[in-house]
Amino acid sequence: MTVNDILLHKGSQVITIEPAATLAMAVQMLAQRRIGALLVTGADHRIVGIISERDVVRVLDEKGTAVLGTPVAEVMTRRVVTCARNETIAEIMERMTSGKFRHVPVIEHGRLAGIVSIGDVVKARLSELEHEQDALREYIRTA
Ligand code: AMP
Repeated sequence: MTVNDILLHKGSQVITIEPAATLAMAVQMLAQRRIGALLVTGADHRIVGIISERDVVRVLDEKGTAVLGTPVAEVMTRRVVTCARNETIAEIMERMTSGKFRHVPVIEHGRLAGIVSIGDVVKARLSELEHEQDALREYIRTA
């Protein structure tokens, strides 16, 4: 199973925010959209960073609520790890585990084509294991 299989199911919509938006705006979007991270994109739709609920919690702890007026650009992670459509779920799981993050944007022809979360990966892996189990049961039954 590949990233493409996940995107076929969930679509390619990615919720983005501008780097100049405030942290308060990011918090509102994360809460209202019920998601864990926002891609930060520049004027030409290029990825300039990612901001997740973890970043928000960290700066709130460090600096207090005054930080909510700070631009997202000052809090986001700038070096974003991405993936391609044809990569396997196992590869993405490995990337998430080693990088200790739960969101990976998908890039196709230099453009944002979707985002895969740890929830998507776990769901896909479970369904893959269920299919394997069914196939094995059928094999044993008919052997
Ligand atoms: P998350 O587990 O996705 O909430 O993110 C944990 C930390 O990793 C936060 O500091 C995020 O900004 C950062 N992060 C999330 N996704 C990525 C990614 N694809 N590449 C690099 N950093 C990321």
